[in-house]
Amino acid sequence: MSATHATIPVHNPANRETVGEIDRFNEAETASAVERARTAQPRWAATSVSERMKILRKFQRLLCEKKDLVAATITGEAGKPSSEAVATEILVVLDTVNFFLETVPAFLQPEDVPHGSVAMKMKRGRLLREPYGVVAIISPWNYPFSIPAIQTLSALVTGNAVVLKPSEFTPISSLELQRLLFAAGLDRDLFQVVTGDGATGAALLQSQIDKVVFTGSVATGKKVALAAAARLLPVVLELGGKDPMIVLEDADVDIASSAAVWGAFMNAGQTCLSIERCYVHQKIYEPFLKACTEKAGRLKVGNGADSSTDVGPLIHQQQLKTVQSHVQDALAQGARLLAGGEPLPQLGPSFYAPTILADVRHSMTIMREETFGPVLPVRSFTTEDEAVDLANDSEFGLAASIWTGNRDRGEKLARRVQAGTVMVNDVIACFGISEAPHGGIKGSGMGRTHGRFGLEEMVWPKYVDSDLMPKMKKLWWYGYGESFLGQMYGFIEVLFAKGLIKRTQGAIKSIQSYTRRKVL
Ligand code: NAD
Repeated sequence: MSATHATIPVHNPANRETVGEIDRFNEAETASAVERARTAQPRWAATSVSERMKILRKFQRLLCEKKDLVAATITGEAGKPSSEAVATEILVVLDTVNFFLETVPAFLQPEDVPHGSVAMKMKRGRLLREPYGVVAIISPWNYPFSIPAIQTLSALVTGNAVVLKPSEFTPISSLELQRLLFAAGLDRDLFQVVTGDGATGAALLQSQIDKVVFTGSVATGKKVALAAAARLLPVVLELGGKDPMIVLEDADVDIASSAAVWGAFMNAGQTCLSIERCYVHQKIYEPFLKACTEKAGRLKVGNGADSSTDVGPLIHQQQLKTVQSHVQDALAQGARLLAGGEPLPQLGPSFYAPTILADVRHSMTIMREETFGPVLPVRSFTTEDEAVDLANDSEFGLAASIWTGNRDRGEKLARRVQAGTVMVNDVIACFGISEAPHGGIKGSGMGRTHGRFGLEEMVWPKYVDSDLMPKMKKLWWYGYGESFLGQMYGFIEVLFAKGLIKRTQGAIKSIQSYTRRKVL
């Protein structure tokens, strides 16, 4: 069933041309999509893992074949350069499928839980991983294919049904994902895409779902958390970031400056893992700034469909306004403008020039709130302690990067940085490591997607324990009294008292008490 009475146009952010129109699912339509998913899920949960893997393999082959079409869809609605659509969306999903093919069959096997306690040795414990049922996924626009695809596949391979609410700005990539999965043989009821805006997302939260995986802004994340709390729904929140880059004095200036320019400007700075704050040791501060400025000047800004484009448009004019206001605030408070600093209306309605700001202060909005645009704000530091304090002085804690000629030093410092991921001598690439957990602490959210931790979020642990001596009544059953207490004290002493004599005395006390009064 699809909604027919209300639609939302989808625009290409490069030129505002309409690239499609989507249904706006209302409450009843959303509830009914969830109902269909709920009905189909038990059958899917009972399907063998090898059957699920067959569909996954076919999906991978189809995505590989249709990569041009999918990349064009992503660029057409998100604006990002097609190279980025291929490298950061399609390639990442294809690799994640490999990770699932290799990991999921063993992951879903019952896991032995060996018992440490002597009293529990005559039992066998097993951990089962059970699917939640219907997982609701609510997605943002900045990675319109890879974010919903990886989360959807994690949920499906573990036996769940999925109802996905993609961003109203970039829904077509999710519909493409759905088409590919259906073509790969997935039951149509198992993966429903309910298109629409925030109202559809809110309706989904009120429907009969079993878990929510939300990726988006902190403001919406808080609403999702409240709605989930009211129903005691488990929730994963992948929210914003204000990722710091720390450049130590022993870093290679040429490499670190290239990384800063790419890390701040790729996807026009609209990546949750973008470099949003840059701290550079004062010894290399000026050469670093000079190198960044030169490199930013070489970037080509334009329509992402042109394969030579480096930096595409922002998603919409509201985003442009936010970026503009952060930059203007910083300049008004004395930041030094080294590159950009202005919109580029001659290119289209939401283009912004790659911008470098030096000498920013930590009180400025640009160092505190997520800017989500092509802006690299830089300031210097003199000691490692100062750099760590600055990096940690944030409401966010998604990711961070440390740049140094000494890997040990970088890894040591990484332990002190408050972030879900810290990369030493690279940035953003963690998103392309299918085995790596993705997610943050503090205002950046809770829970994880990607890797084994991402799979764990899609299942609940069921512990099954079998007694290996079912014909024996247990020593701890009724029949309490002095004798029972003596037995327990003795048992504790055998195991935990200091010295052989005390332990032996405990053993004797414990054995003597076996004659205790039995009630059961
Ligand atoms: P957003 O919060 O505006 O929207 C996200 C999704 O929530 C959209 O599908 C939207 O329609 C839906 N929504 C809006 N109101 C809702 C409501 N009341 N109830 C339920 N759903 C509702 O975010 P955005 O602008 O699409 O995305 C950008 C943000 O996402 C940035 O802050 C970015 O850092 C963050 N992000 C985080 C990660 C991560 O992994 N941590 C990844 C990508 C993006």
